[in-house]
Amino acid sequence: MDKIIIENLEIIAEHGVFKEEKFLGQKFIISIEMLTDTREAGKTENLEASTHYGFVADDIEKLFTSKSFDLIETCAEKIAEMILTKYHLISEVKITVKKPWAPIRKHFDFVAVEITRKWHTAYLSLGSNMGDKKKNLLDAIEKINNLENTKVTSKSTILETEPFGYTEQDWFLNACIEIKTLFTPQELLEKLLSIELYMGRERIIKWGPRIIDLDILFFDDEIIQDKNLCVPHPWICERMFVLEPLCEIAPNLVHPLERKPISTLKRMLERELEK
Ligand code: ATP
Ligand code: CA
Ligand code: CA
Repeated sequence: MDKIIIENLEIIAEHGVFKEEKFLGQKFIISIEMLTDTREAGKTENLEASTHYGFVADDIEKLFTSKSFDLIETCAEKIAEMILTKYHLISEVKITVKKPWAPIRKHFDFVAVEITRKWHTAYLSLGSNMGDKKKNLLDAIEKINNLENTKVTSKSTILETEPFGYTEQDWFLNACIEIKTLFTPQELLEKLLSIELYMGRERIIKWGPRIIDLDILFFDDEIIQDKNLCVPHPWICERMFVLEPLCEIAPNLVHPLERKPISTLKRMLERELEK
């Protein structure tokens, strides 16, 4: 991917833990790398097709001098968030914040924090088999869309499916959505679990009746095996109620462990179920 770079932008500002830093101010040196496609602008000379580095530099200065943060970690995080949410052609940023006058009684060139942040694409599965099921799904989608720095970018139709696992319960309504988010996988899981709780989800029987179930199917092409989070979701290939709606919105998405597109996984499960 192409990059637009601003290297060593100097700004005097008042970030730091000590009260002296908050009124004396000091020098910060900021470098940013913005991943974007410059091809069209390069071919056409049209700045609209690219990102104006002058505006970005002005915005960084405004952000940096309008507030005082304790940590350069926060400074870097705020710059990354501002660029990714304001400049839509930028998919990823690397931010370095250097503090050459940091209050350390030693000789050094600078201390610095460097972070990389990007828009992630995640696919979620939604299910409900209690109460007003359709409303539950639509409410959950709205709540996900209202999460900070998160947008629902695609929705499947809603489909009715037989219960799976524990079968002594009402039929389900299921759907899948695609989202773009700045959350990490763990942050996203936490947000989804709190939406479930807020909507009244209780966990009594495994695979039992539920007002709402929100699972992370994929998060970019990451493979995560944490104690509380497994991505890709481990049961995708066995569940038609996941593959069918997912195939509507992402037939060509490749499962990073199976290395096959969703449409193929769906066909394979259909054959399996016909046997
Ligand atoms: P299944 O995972 O088989 O669909 P379930 O959705 O009924 O079952 P829950 O009771 O909703 O299971 O979730 C139990 C825990 O699963 C959650 O608290 C969460 O920590 C964990 N979990 C692991 N991987 C994921 C994932 N990809 N998406 C959502 N939750 C996950
Ligand atoms: Ca589930
Ligand atoms: Ca779940």
